[in-house]
Amino acid sequence: MLNRRQFLKSIAALTGTPLTPWRAFAAGTPASALPARGELVLRNAYVITMEPRLGDIPGGDVHIKNGVILAVGKGLKAPGAEAIDGQRMIVLPGLVDTHWHMWNTLLRSLAGEKASQGYFPLTTAYGKIMTPDDMYHGARLAAAEGLYSGITTVHDFCHNARSRAHAEADIRALQEAGLRARWSYGWPQGLPDTEITKMADVEALHRDWANFSSEGLISMGFAWRGMFRNTALPRQVYRPEFEIARRLGLPISAHVGSGEAAKGQIAAHAKENLLGKDVQVVHALSASPAEMEMLAKAGSPVSVSPDTEMRIGYGFPKVGELLAAGVRVGISVDNTVLAGDANLFGLLKMVRNIENARSHDEFKMPARRVLELGTIEGARSLGMEDRVGSLKPGKRADVIMVSTRQLTMGVFTEPAHLLVEAAEPESVDTVIVDGRVLKRGGRLTSLAVDRIVSDAEGSFEAMRNRADQP
Ligand SMILES: [Zn+2]
Repeated sequence: MLNRRQFLKSIAALTGTPLTPWRAFAAGTPASALPARGELVLRNAYVITMEPRLGDIPGGDVHIKNGVILAVGKGLKAPGAEAIDGQRMIVLPGLVDTHWHMWNTLLRSLAGEKASQGYFPLTTAYGKIMTPDDMYHGARLAAAEGLYSGITTVHDFCHNARSRAHAEADIRALQEAGLRARWSYGWPQGLPDTEITKMADVEALHRDWANFSSEGLISMGFAWRGMFRNTALPRQVYRPEFEIARRLGLPISAHVGSGEAAKGQIAAHAKENLLGKDVQVVHALSASPAEMEMLAKAGSPVSVSPDTEMRIGYGFPKVGELLAAGVRVGISVDNTVLAGDANLFGLLKMVRNIENARSHDEFKMPARRVLELGTIEGARSLGMEDRVGSLKPGKRADVIMVSTRQLTMGVFTEPAHLLVEAAEPESVDTVIVDGRVLKRGGRLTSLAVDRIVSDAEGSFEAMRNRADQP
């Protein structure tokens, strides 16, 4: 019997190592590797626009040209447009993830059963030895999975920008996938709480951002440690980091208030004026009612990652309380080291069921409301609602089609309920980002799945040998 390591080695030998470095892709991949933005019309689908004025359109069409939604309605005239049959399909805006450490997808489901192998020690140990290639392969695997699962916008919270090359490798994976993204520059794993993130590198990347934005598809943000990480950070660390990011106009994101030990942390940020519309707070599980009011008043959106929050033992997400307090809420994958996968429909189902369970009320969280959190509210919390999150003329064309033709989605009953309760990544038939068809007939159109998975396997195995980790 081969153990797992020997097995992976034999696979690597069969498929041919070494891996193609990301730099080769960078130099040799023309932008045209992504499909062109054509003219399309999705025909006769059940269209959920997530726009109050347009509502749902049974038997509806969506007309897309050069990346823009031209029209949404019934029996649209679109001569010359390529037609995609939408019968027994639900068409909706692409799903929006609001915080995801895409690089560590290379460590999928690796978090162990004892403290030394928990999420934090594990991701720190591996994070420290990751090369730019490893970052690329991890982020590319995540990007491919996101697209496959119907996620069209991600917030890649890249808290392992060890060098400019590491940062560029991670961004390159998003560019090649064609995802819409906020890419947030974050401190390298293992950086002591007493040391400041290299803000000169943040400023340099910000200055050069036009080279990385993929015609505006990817914007830059700053992944901040906040005032507290493993310990309370010194003021001379957290203040300049925050102030430089804000001066550059970068949206800021920080994990604040996870677990019992974190009580009062949001109040501490509020007291120092370190919240705001441009400051996303992740988890916020320790938030008291007064702190929720502070978040609402400041306009700080909260990113809730129900799967990882429960898996790591933080407790049950407080989506109902946050919404009731007027806080903007988006849903997030966070990481697949703990969550295993990036099934955003599954996350929506969790949010709703936890809410109903906690309130002992079958009707507490409607499917429509949770669907808003996964689309338009996610877009609002990233400041992207002018472009995506709903289907209406003039918005960018980030659209997905979910099939109800498969065994686990028939009978076509209540579409919003089907999406939240029954949809899986495999149910996603078509994914369109900025007018480019990136998944069609259940298959990714421009990414080679076998290659992406085997490259990631090889990258992980080489890294594990270097690390001498379990
Ligand atoms: Zn996180």
